[in-house]
Amino acid sequence: MHSFSPLLAKLVQSLCILPGVGQKSAQRMALTLLEKKPEKAKDLAVLIQESLENLGRCSVCRTITEYDTCPICTNANRDQHLLCVTQTPMDLISIEQGAQYNGLYFVLMGLLSPLDGVGPEDLGLEHLEARLKSGVIKELILAINPTIEGEATMHFLLALAKKYQVPTSRIAYGVPFGGELEYVDAHTLNHAFSSREKIGQ
Ligand SMILES: [Zn+2]
Repeated sequence: MHSFSPLLAKLVQSLCILPGVGQKSAQRMALTLLEKKPEKAKDLAVLIQESLENLGRCSVCRTITEYDTCPICTNANRDQHLLCVTQTPMDLISIEQGAQYNGLYFVLMGLLSPLDGVGPEDLGLEHLEARLKSGVIKELILAINPTIEGEATMHFLLALAKKYQVPTSRIAYGVPFGGELEYVDAHTLNHAFSSREKIGQ
C-alpha cells in the first residue's frame, strides 16, 4: 500500500495509533491535512511539538498541565475540603464536563497492580497521603473504574483515608439514564445494587 509514497504510508501508520482510528480514517485524515488544510496541518505539527515540550504534571494533583500547579488546584473558589481521586486526566475531564463537582482532584495516572510491578510510590500516593494527613480534606471521593485493579486500588485508598479519619465515598456505578435493566450486564447491575443510595425512609 502507498508504494507511490512511503512517507505518506508512514504518516498514515502514525495516525493509526490514535484510539478509534483505522486505516481508512487515517488515510482520509492524512490527505485532508496535506491537501485541503496544509496551514492547519502546520499548526497541528507545531502544537504537538509544543505540547510534548511543555506539558508536565501538576505538582499537587498530578494531572496534565503546563503550569507547576494547575488552575484547578490554585482556584480558591473550589471546595478545598473535597478531594476526588481519578485514574486518568481523561476521567478528570469527564467529571469536570459532566458532573456538578466543585472540589479538588488527585489523578493516579494508573492503578495499583502488584503483578505488573505498580506500587503506591508509582502512583504518587505519598502526595495523597500528605493531603489526607493535613486535616483539610473532609471527604475523599473515589471515582475509579470498578475493575479488579480498580477495586484493589480503592481498597488501599480506603485504608489510607481511615488512617487519618477522612470519610470516604465512591461514586455509584450503575444503570445509565434511559438504560434498560435487561441490557445491563450482571457486574454493572451488581454494583448498581451494592452502591444504592438511600432516597426515603
Ligand atoms: Zn492540579
